[in-house]
Amino acid sequence: MEILKGIPVSPGLFIGEAFVLEGEEARIPERFVLSELVDGEVARFEKALASVREEMAALADRVRNEIGEGAAGILVFAISILDDPKLSGEIISHIRQDRNSAEFATSRVLRGRARILKSIPHTLLSQRASDIMDIERRLLRALLGAKRETLSHLDRPVAVVAHDLGPAQTASMDHGKVRAFALDVGGKTSHTAILARAYRIPAVVGLGTISTDVCGGDTIIVDGTRGIVVVRPDEKALARYRKLEAERTDFVRLLGRERNMPAVTRDGVHVRVMANIEFPEEVPAAIEYGAEGIGLFRTEFLYLRSGILPSEWDHFEAYRRSLAKLGGRPLVIRTFDLGADKLLPAHDRHERNPSLGLRSIRLSMKYPEPFRTQLRAIARASAIGRVRVMLPMVSTIDELRWARSVMSEIMADLEREGLPFDRNLEMGTMIEVPASAVHIESLAKLSDFFSIGTNDLIQYTLAVDRTDEALAGLYTPAHPSVLKLIRMAIDGARRKGKPIAMCGEMAGDILFTVPLIGMGLTEFSVAPAVIDEIKRIVRSVRASDCREVAEAAAAMDEPSEVIGFLRSALRRLVPDGERLGERG
Ligand code: PEP
Ligand code: MG
Repeated sequence: MEILKGIPVSPGLFIGEAFVLEGEEARIPERFVLSELVDGEVARFEKALASVREEMAALADRVRNEIGEGAAGILVFAISILDDPKLSGEIISHIRQDRNSAEFATSRVLRGRARILKSIPHTLLSQRASDIMDIERRLLRALLGAKRETLSHLDRPVAVVAHDLGPAQTASMDHGKVRAFALDVGGKTSHTAILARAYRIPAVVGLGTISTDVCGGDTIIVDGTRGIVVVRPDEKALARYRKLEAERTDFVRLLGRERNMPAVTRDGVHVRVMANIEFPEEVPAAIEYGAEGIGLFRTEFLYLRSGILPSEWDHFEAYRRSLAKLGGRPLVIRTFDLGADKLLPAHDRHERNPSLGLRSIRLSMKYPEPFRTQLRAIARASAIGRVRVMLPMVSTIDELRWARSVMSEIMADLEREGLPFDRNLEMGTMIEVPASAVHIESLAKLSDFFSIGTNDLIQYTLAVDRTDEALAGLYTPAHPSVLKLIRMAIDGARRKGKPIAMCGEMAGDILFTVPLIGMGLTEFSVAPAVIDEIKRIVRSVRASDCREVAEAAAAMDEPSEVIGFLRSALRRLVPDGERLGERG
């Protein structure tokens, strides 16, 4: 028996047989074509593109029928990459100008894009690289005439074990038979992870070498809740996991039934639970999970999808599409949160500490045009739905003053042009830097609302790089200083009568729901999949009990002490509290 620890990305449990998928990372040799064959090579590429597009559209239809529009959006996103004329233009130009073979040009361009995405120190976006690699695999398969994947023809339930999986591969599997994933690489926010959650397939990623440690036919336990994979388990382990499996099933049914009920504590405090998204296509899934609106729309994808700065129309379309699917619910749009190393060719200054450098609002101030374009699109979108703007990484009031002056100019322009907009469009500030939590009362003078971005707030408070796995043990919301800053921010905002939400990962961590309610937080913006659990906690507790928990936690010295205490509080205050976070 061997026990492997990885990253849990989709909860649930599978006990059964492993199916090891061999890697398909074919190396495409550089091959040149004769000039008289160039037209034929371009036609071959165009034919492959059309056939992959058709294949992906059929797959998107299938996902739409099986699990809904939200998950299908992931495939629609992949199709939009295929449809991007800049992408095919670049590939065709390599075929025509460099006389590359269709395979080599395809591989060169797509791997180049995947490399750019991977190099972005932003986990959400760097993981889009596997979407690009998935498209490359499909185009190459079409060009090389390789046979179809064996995974669509399984005859028994299996856990798929592989180095990596793309979203289209994941979507095209026979979901009656593929019941779990265990992968060498990957992260929580990859599209494969999102699809696994949508299909409710337990999945563990980041297991290192599982694809070589396991043989096809081995018995395997995939515990997607705890991020554990047991390879060739003994009888004792098998019996323990079978019991766990039976207990979880009933609880999941219960959560599903309660999903759309409002979240009000037993003593009458209403808590709004919103969703975080990156793509307009994710809106329907968020609503399905019970979201009351979108509390954080990360817009960087508009730039990173194509590598080219989006036009006002691109922005506007993304916001219009989101609003159309939101049916009157609110949408908080965060302006570009890009770092110095991922924007504008004009900006080639080397930074020793990019996360302390020219990023987010600082970058917008240095290069105002892309910011102005985005704000103008947001202002125009405010005429057609409930939109708010949110500024990332603010650390000085001057940044707010500047952003507001840009917005005033834009509104004056729109008025002159006779274009409609909401004059009362609200502009909010993210609290991601300790300085902002401390002087939130000054920022309140120029902020209509606040949202605490704990992912960055923790990194800057504890001086721990949020992306450095080696420092993961030091990175915790349970550090007393983090809790103190959060309390300070909530109290300061309330004193000034300004609403404050939380949209970092901490808001979706069920261990902190009780103390956050206790500190007075009444708006959470979280990953769609945890909305039902947060709502269940809210409905189970009294705000007065939560206040006691928050106060007791605030008096503690050590993160480990805080965590132990919060675990027992959750068990004590919430029926089935120990089962939350364990479904599948
Ligand atoms: C945060 O920092 O908590 C946040 C929500 O922003 P991002 O994760 O996109 O940096
Ligand atoms: Mg942030």
